[in-house]
Amino acid sequence: MTVERAVGPMKWYGWGDPERRVRLDEEAIAMLRAEVGEGRPGDRGSLEGVVIPAPRPLPATIAETVGPAAVLTGHEHRVRRATGRGYPDLVRLRAGRLDDAPDAVVLPGNAAEVGRVLEVCARERIGVVPFGGGTSVVGGVQPVRGRFERLITLDLRRLHGTRVDRTSLTATLGPGLRGPEAEEALAAHGVTLGHFPQSFEYATIGGFAAARSAGQASSGHGRFDDLVTAVRLAAPAGELETLDVPHTAAGPALRELVLGSEGTLGIITEVSARVRAVPERRRYAAWMAPDFSSGTAIVRTMAQSDALPDVVRLSDEAETRVALGMSGTGGGKRALLGAYLGLRRRRGGCMLVCGWEGEAEAVERRRALAARILRSGGAAGLGSGPGEAWERSRYDGPYLRDELLDLGYMVETLETAHAWARLKELHDEVRAAIGAALAAQETPGIVTGHVSHAYPDGASLYFTFIAPRRPGADLEQWRTVKEAASDAIVEVGGTITHHHGIGRDHLPYMRAEVGGLGLETLRAVKERLDPAGIMNPGKLLP
Ligand SMILES: Cc1cc2nc3c(=O)[nH]c(=O)nc-3n(C[C@H](O)[C@H](O)[C@H](O)COP(=O)(O)OP(=O)(O)OC[C@H]3O[C@@H](n4cnc5c(N)ncnc54)[C@H](O)[C@@H]3O)c2cc1C
Repeated sequence: MTVERAVGPMKWYGWGDPERRVRLDEEAIAMLRAEVGEGRPGDRGSLEGVVIPAPRPLPATIAETVGPAAVLTGHEHRVRRATGRGYPDLVRLRAGRLDDAPDAVVLPGNAAEVGRVLEVCARERIGVVPFGGGTSVVGGVQPVRGRFERLITLDLRRLHGTRVDRTSLTATLGPGLRGPEAEEALAAHGVTLGHFPQSFEYATIGGFAAARSAGQASSGHGRFDDLVTAVRLAAPAGELETLDVPHTAAGPALRELVLGSEGTLGIITEVSARVRAVPERRRYAAWMAPDFSSGTAIVRTMAQSDALPDVVRLSDEAETRVALGMSGTGGGKRALLGAYLGLRRRRGGCMLVCGWEGEAEAVERRRALAARILRSGGAAGLGSGPGEAWERSRYDGPYLRDELLDLGYMVETLETAHAWARLKELHDEVRAAIGAALAAQETPGIVTGHVSHAYPDGASLYFTFIAPRRPGADLEQWRTVKEAASDAIVEVGGTITHHHGIGRDHLPYMRAEVGGLGLETLRAVKERLDPAGIMNPGKLLP
């Protein structure tokens, strides 16, 4: 892989392939205007025009370690690694001014080079931000200098090896592999990870592990951290490697310390994970539950009776209505809309998308079992067409976000999880908090939610809100809503994050999550592995 290829081709001010657009049709735009009013578009400058601080010079030993071609100091390289892909990141990029950017982007070619770069940085007191795909939505890759005068971003694109053990059905993967690259390499061996988050196209294996990612099929296949069997971590204090065995009772799991460490302990240089045979059959179907309460009861019953589909996503009433109005144009949408409207003449409802993947016979057996539970819970089938339409458009959401931003709307998402017994309360409180915070700023919005990632004891909730932007005060608008939603989550006892991680944006809530002693314990681990505190300053640990 050349160093040039390491520069992601992502749209500099938004998401995804610059050549690809997922357009909103006129009906969708009209619906939006009718519900929340006109958007307020802001200006968007050029990549060349983005203002960042001048870079500070770095010691020559870094270039000597990785080779001069693997140290990038150009303006574009620094801008492209200075943010993740959350709403505030996109606002800052579009505004053309970033508080900070790395002094250089360094691309080590192997784990040994990673170790040597960290040694130099620890000795010279240089902050290090690990960078996978840069898709963090919690400020995880944003440079926070703190007491470090100099700071580099370590882009892990060149660590992209793959080894597959067909007998054990495990694979050892380099952290720099993006989702599609990892799947392509695994497909050559007839296996798959089955991990498909919405950011799949750009996010990397290292990022999945470092931020405990959950994919769209994680109800059935498990989150990414469930799949991981072993990790290698290059920390400033040395290398930590966990044994690649199915289980060990040798004390608390060090693997768990590395998963979710968000680059604050070291660099994950290798991940071993369970893989499965590429599914023989995939089936998706959509159902309509009478309302959100009966829908959650159906998902809970499936989760508690071992009948959970691999993909399960229950939209609340608002999301059901908006998703149908806003999804991209095309036959799939029309099929879904037609089926929905047919049912709606009789009643409103909440859409439930289910997906099954695996051997043909097992897929059919599991579908039949789930169908019985769905029917007895009062859901009506919409057929496979709408379910397949969802599957085809599963990566469109972030492209639509760019369109909405262009039209002058804020679009942001946040997620949490709780036990079934308190899920409805959490849903209602968070929706109300977001709605009130938007209304208080005179930008009333649409607030939608869905259940995904179900477990026998609870589920995650994912919220999306759309409202007219406040150009010039976008970040303040966003922060007010984010704080209101986060406070509501903490108040009800939910987790501040089910799968996006802590990064910078969730730092104030880490104490509520793990407690004072919990924080001190994590800090003690960090002090041992990263005594100079160079790793991803200002993230995870307040
Ligand atoms: C549009 C969109 C949709 C998304 N959908 C989902 C979803 O469905 N499910 C989900 O879980 N998340 C989702 N996310 C969030 C994000 O994609 C995940 O957190 C993902 O795991 C990040 O991977 P990455 O390679 O982009 O990591 P980055 O964003 O580059 O990094 C994330 C964090 O991990 C650290 N890090 C990265 N690589 C390493 C490494 N090798 N060693 C140590 N630390 C490292 C970084 O420093 C940072 O703190 C979405 C994001 C966007 C923008």
